[in-house]
Amino acid sequence: MDCLFCKIVAGEIPAEIVHTTERTVAFRDLNAQAPTHVLIVPKDHYANAAELAAGDPVASAELVTTAAAVATAEGYDDYRLVFNTGAGAGQSVFHTHLHLLAGRPFGWPPG
Ligand code: 5GP
Repeated sequence: MDCLFCKIVAGEIPAEIVHTTERTVAFRDLNAQAPTHVLIVPKDHYANAAELAAGDPVASAELVTTAAAVATAEGYDDYRLVFNTGAGAGQSVFHTHLHLLAGRPFGWPPG
């Protein structure tokens, strides 16, 4: 399968990895939208958040606990977590990833 994030997990494409757990890898977004912008992905391939939750609920929860650990490590109590799901909602890489954004104010509703 030709999947960008599978290749990052496998170490075939470089990324600035900030945290790993048994089931997840967290690395900095190449095009950061906040002072901290980290993507947390499952090591196994699932296309989106719902497929991951159905197929591996433990890994699904681990994405969130990993995001919280990274936010804490970077000194943030306030942060935003985002799963874009489907191209129409802004998903461009079809390997589940949780965006962790922190370090600036966030508006609501999101753009
Ligand atoms: P999406 O649009 O699917 O929700 O998020 C995909 C994210 O992956 C984007 O924020 C984009 O900047 C990031 N991204 C795309 N290609 C790469 C890459 O090769 N390395 C890293 N670290 N991030 C990437």
